[in-house]
Amino acid sequence: MKRFFSLLLAALMLLSLCACGAEKSAGKVVYAMDTVMTLTAYGKDADTALGEAEFELYRLEQLLDRFTEDGEVNAINANAGKPTGVSDELAALVALAQHISDKTSGAFDPTIAPVMDAWGFGGSEFRVPTQPELEVLLPNVDADQILISYEDRPRITIGTMQALDLGGIAKGYAGDCVKSIFEKHGCTGVIDLGGDVTLVGRKSDGSDWRVAIKDPYDPSAFLGTLSASDCTVVTSGVYERNFTENGVTYHHIIDPATGCPAESGLVSVTVVCADGAYADALSTAAFVLGIDRAAALRDAFATETPLLELIFVTGDGHVLYSDGLDGILEPNTESGYTYEHLS
Ligand code: ADP
Ligand code: MG
Repeated sequence: MKRFFSLLLAALMLLSLCACGAEKSAGKVVYAMDTVMTLTAYGKDADTALGEAEFELYRLEQLLDRFTEDGEVNAINANAGKPTGVSDELAALVALAQHISDKTSGAFDPTIAPVMDAWGFGGSEFRVPTQPELEVLLPNVDADQILISYEDRPRITIGTMQALDLGGIAKGYAGDCVKSIFEKHGCTGVIDLGGDVTLVGRKSDGSDWRVAIKDPYDPSAFLGTLSASDCTVVTSGVYERNFTENGVTYHHIIDPATGCPAESGLVSVTVVCADGAYADALSTAAFVLGIDRAAALRDAFATETPLLELIFVTGDGHVLYSDGLDGILEPNTESGYTYEHLS
């Protein structure tokens, strides 16, 4: 039922978007990767671009979702301990995930799957695992153990007790792929993959798109608006998926160091980045690292990503943002938050 209303709401939003403006536009709502996705394309080939985009999103779901039968990630996990032949595309994405894991001191780790499952975030019933249980699982959360070899074709081998979960990077990567399709058809537009938003080009009048950043305590409200173009905006927050047991709320961003939901004093992190896959993975990493360690990511990744800006929302009502967002982030002064620059 919830899914039905989300789809209906997304469809209504699309109608209102498409009703205005002279340039030809088209919209599509797609349900993939457990997410309601809203695509809006502008340009004379908008319909063709959206048709291809939908097909691409289903293809990526099949490729990247560890629960999809016949999927490549699923095959690697089922074959743990032995080499599994994969596509060049998957090998490249896993290599990127491993690289980001390395450069974030393991705060982002694509081998987090066994711990996600222990908490029931893999789809089964939510539960709080015991400490001894986590201690058995944690040595397997280690992206260093992923072996990628390239002989006649790429092959990936994970440890016998390991399993891959690309949930922290898949939607951002999907945004990049759909963006390429829009560009191929000469379209601009907005690719909203359930809150991971990729902006393609600029609006037809040359101005920036505007993206609302949700208030993590009230996702129907927003704490500010970003004016941006040609980039991806990803927010990782405690509100996305969680459960409450004995009065304690547990969310789905796990600190690989403890095996427990990250407690970094943050309730959400938004990353603005030229590249969607980086934006997605780094939003998860930044959430785990907390403000001080995450702020260093900007320097660490400066040579790889031309744009990397961050917005942190703390549990005690502060919004801290990197200085590159001056004039780009418009705070919602009625939100009750205080807004500050990162020092
Ligand atoms: P969402 O996908 O809900 O928008 P995120 O981008 O923050 O949110 O990704 C959370 C997902 O990433 C989890 O559902 C899980 O699949 C995976 N994940 C959780 N913790 C980590 C981690 N420390 N490193 C890598 N992936 C993680
Ligand atoms: Mg992420």
